[in-house]
Amino acid sequence: MERYDVVVVGAGPGGSTAARFAAQGGARTLLLDQRVELGQPVQCGEFLPTPAELADLFPHPEIPQLIREAFVIPPETVLRATHEMVCVAPSGRRYRFPLEGFAVSRRAFDKRLALAAEGEGAELRFPCGVTGVKDGRVRLANGGEVEGQVVIGADGPLSTVARGAGFAPTREMYRMITGTSLGEFPDAIELYFGHHTPGGYGWMIPKATDANVGLGVTRLPPGEDLGSLLDRFLTAWGLPRATDRTRWWVPIGPPPESARAGRALFVGDAANLVMATNGGGIPTAILSGRDAGVAAAGHCRTGAPLAEYDRLWRSHLYEPLLRAWRIKRLGDRIVERDRWLSIGMAYIGTKGLDSMMRLRWPARLVWRDS
Ligand SMILES: Cc1cc2nc3c(=O)[nH]c(=O)nc-3n(C[C@H](O)[C@H](O)[C@H](O)COP(=O)(O)OP(=O)(O)OC[C@H]3O[C@@H](n4cnc5c(N)ncnc54)[C@H](O)[C@@H]3O)c2cc1C
Repeated sequence: MERYDVVVVGAGPGGSTAARFAAQGGARTLLLDQRVELGQPVQCGEFLPTPAELADLFPHPEIPQLIREAFVIPPETVLRATHEMVCVAPSGRRYRFPLEGFAVSRRAFDKRLALAAEGEGAELRFPCGVTGVKDGRVRLANGGEVEGQVVIGADGPLSTVARGAGFAPTREMYRMITGTSLGEFPDAIELYFGHHTPGGYGWMIPKATDANVGLGVTRLPPGEDLGSLLDRFLTAWGLPRATDRTRWWVPIGPPPESARAGRALFVGDAANLVMATNGGGIPTAILSGRDAGVAAAGHCRTGAPLAEYDRLWRSHLYEPLLRAWRIKRLGDRIVERDRWLSIGMAYIGTKGLDSMMRLRWPARLVWRDS
């Protein structure tokens, strides 16, 4: 059986970043993914905040440096820069605030991150599915087995590694569907709220020559499926039809107390490290991946305890993620009815989310009613 210091399962943003930092820290690292083409199919809205916006979300003093090291958006993966977020209430009222970000191609982005890991010396193997994990032994779909002193579970919300290692965070999930609409769209991302998207929201994220449109919901109305919900949502808001649809999940449960089990560390979606308020999880997958890679390499090099990973990610990410989850729960109480939601959004429009919930992120959020 082949032995590695670190075996990373999943070459999404979390796994590739973990592998990059593990290899950079001197660990013999293997990065595995089941996909034939990394980043494909796209199961994402493909929106990223700029590094400056991201730094605003996470106040820990080390975050700016971490972002510089780990949250690098390769320019060739950027399809469009956006400058504003528009939140549309069920009443049709539009609330605008400045938000600098990028629509990226996940197809290109995931490949670039995996190549960056390879560039640091990690061995990248795909398609190579993992069917089970026990005590550092990783069973491969091709019948083989590899062993890692440390295994990093970066295999998304339905993590096989988590099942094998007995890691079971509280799983609350958005059901998501996304597709592509053709047309011309303004330089703003649009989020739509109301009964077409129960417990969640719909979006339009403009790209170079089209837009990523989709929705996430916490439950499906009886007799509906995600496809019919998306059709009704697009029609209701006058958005063009969507093709190339994919369906997937986003974990929106609370961040776990610990993101490790035995020799396994968990990052990104596999660990529930997602902003529950909006289902955005790429930046947190990358930042937790960085922490896991550093801790895993330190463990292999000096025998430092793997608990260092929990210390790192908790100090960097835990509080803002927990706060977002609490806000989501609070919001769930008012999104049940369109009327309450419109009133709630109007209230927030006047007072600002910051004063209401002492949420750091919207400190810069100046709602403009139009
Ligand atoms: C419809 C939708 C829209 C979204 N929009 C946004 C957005 O606009 N911005 C944002 O920040 N976030 C968004 N998210 C969330 C974001 O996509 C995830 O949080 C992010 O991809 C998590 O990264 P990750 O590396 O943890 O996992 P993933 O990106 O899911 O990567 C997991 C990898 O593991 C591999 N894998 C899984 N199982 C196995 C196995 N058994 N063996 C081997 N490999 C395996 C997969 O092939 C995959 O490559 C969206 C999610 C969805 C579903």
